[in-house]
Amino acid sequence: MLELTAINLFTKNLLEWHKKNKRSFPWKETSDPYKIWLSEIILQQTRVEQGLPYYLKMVKLFPTIKHLASAKEDEVLKAWQGLGYYSRARNLQSGAKYILEELNGKLPENYDGWLKIKGVGPYAAAAIVSFAYNLPHAVVDGNVYRVLARNFGIDLPIDSTEGKKKFSNLANKLIAKKEAALFNQAIMDLGATVCKPSSSPLCKVCPVNENCVALKKNMIAFLPVKSKKIVLRNRFFHYIVAKNETGFLMEKRKENDIWKGLYQFPLIESEKFLSLVNLSAHPTFKKVTNDKNLKITAGKKFVYLLSHQKIHAKFFLVSTDKINSKIYSVIKKIHLKKLAVPKIIEHYLKNIIH
Ligand code: SF4
Repeated sequence: MLELTAINLFTKNLLEWHKKNKRSFPWKETSDPYKIWLSEIILQQTRVEQGLPYYLKMVKLFPTIKHLASAKEDEVLKAWQGLGYYSRARNLQSGAKYILEELNGKLPENYDGWLKIKGVGPYAAAAIVSFAYNLPHAVVDGNVYRVLARNFGIDLPIDSTEGKKKFSNLANKLIAKKEAALFNQAIMDLGATVCKPSSSPLCKVCPVNENCVALKKNMIAFLPVKSKKIVLRNRFFHYIVAKNETGFLMEKRKENDIWKGLYQFPLIESEKFLSLVNLSAHPTFKKVTNDKNLKITAGKKFVYLLSHQKIHAKFFLVSTDKINSKIYSVIKKIHLKKLAVPKIIEHYLKNIIH
């Protein structure tokens, strides 16, 4: 009974607070499931400030599911350029095609239906059906984990199966059944603006501070708990910048790896940076050119951090007339900026395209 009271109070205070403190974003002002789906996929792994211009761009370029399904993959990836996790863009397009072809263009109207769409997991499915149809499915994202772990004093790791289940059950008990959309927005807004990730959230103005276990027991800095430490994989990329009188040699990334579908200069990857001698002896380098008298100029090193990978990259400018344009695409300099490329290449191109 005591638990029920605490739960009711949490929800009541949270919704009251949200009436005066809600954050306003374009995807919150619509109940169009297509736009909500776009926003949810964009906002995975992305801060709202960063995601907003991409959302506006995607809605403008692909205003309906038909536009998205019939666009070229290169166009979708170009619109996504810089946002990272490009599988999200490819999955969105696959999902749009699936909905058009298999569901006669009708977007799913329930949680299980959305789970069948590529790239939509439990979190996105709950968000879409609660925001579009007000169905009582609680969203549990990083903000929600933090609020719940602190407020209810839960020290189960949020990345463990047991922890995920516990937090999801609790959020689904807390959700206001008739105001699911508002509840989900409210708890996410609270995590983003009040119960912030820092060790000093704004507890004084927090609407649920009265029963907050972490505040009472001085545990804020220790919650939420994560069990796994992320192990960063170091990768060493050598980009071979080679050109002839027509343009630059480029290739499209095809493997199931980061940046799939994006363009790059011919790439040699190794366990550590190669010397110029070893680089020019590499089989991929020989595919680019067999010229024995070429000149290679090594550029400075770039480091690019992804969630689980650290990319160390160097660009090598190759001066030769004898490049192999048969296995690579030759792209005119003025067309380079139209290609969808990883951020690290975009940055490099900015220096060579004026
Ligand atoms: S009182 Fe502080 S720690 Fe507790 S939920 Fe509110 S902001 Fe978070």
